[in-house]
Amino acid sequence: MVDLGSAEALIARHREAFEEYRRRLVAWNEQVNLTSITDEEEVFIKHFVDSVAVVALREWRGLSDGAVILDVGTGAGFPGLPLAICHPRLRFVLVDALQKRVRFLQEMVEALRLNHVLVMHGRAEDLVRADGMRAGFDACVSRAVASLPVLLELTMPFVRPGGFTLAWKGPGVYDELDAGSRAAGILGGRIQRVDAYDLPGGAGGRTLVVVEQRRPAPERYPRKAGVPQRKPLA
Ligand code: SAH
Repeated sequence: MVDLGSAEALIARHREAFEEYRRRLVAWNEQVNLTSITDEEEVFIKHFVDSVAVVALREWRGLSDGAVILDVGTGAGFPGLPLAICHPRLRFVLVDALQKRVRFLQEMVEALRLNHVLVMHGRAEDLVRADGMRAGFDACVSRAVASLPVLLELTMPFVRPGGFTLAWKGPGVYDELDAGSRAAGILGGRIQRVDAYDLPGGAGGRTLVVVEQRRPAPERYPRKAGVPQRKPLA
């Protein structure tokens, strides 16, 4: 079971930035659909603590200063932006297909002066063709974007060999593991393990799937936009 103590301590250390994030999230949410969660305590637990939960994992702790992390389908910034607030020495690229969410994130990055964060608009299937993107990241993170085989096709091609993908999932992830394992193999890697945790205050069980990248993902992945979702690998 993942211990969330270090995540909560990190958030407490950056309290002001997280308060500002929550205020702007709730304000923007009146105009742009960013999240269904707006209660103060719930935002902290279900968005912030959940995003930062990964700091307990040895793979995350092993990242060196300057390592580059990609968040695919970041939405209103989860998990990438809370992680960026806590880790000024890593570099982050946050990607989303919806322009309105990207605009919110750009405002957040400016407001919090996060010079180590880049926000990009587009679909993972297209952005992977841009310079430096394929196999260009030390780690890829993603939450609530797709089922495991689809998610892995959208993330693993961005990860360099020796790097890893981390997928935030619910307690039902075990039903997706067989298909996920086959997809990971096709994409040049392997699911190493699943770590479980309980959010504080009875907010529910979550899991983190750790996937190591052994070889670069074959060039033909991800397939054209929309195909990974229509015809999941495996
Ligand atoms: N990760 C956030 C948002 C989840 S909603 C969170 O956990 O709260 C899923 C997000 O993924 C949406 O914002 C959607 O625009 C984005 N998305 C879905 N498919 C995508 C793709 N192929 N490439 C980039 N973004 C994608």
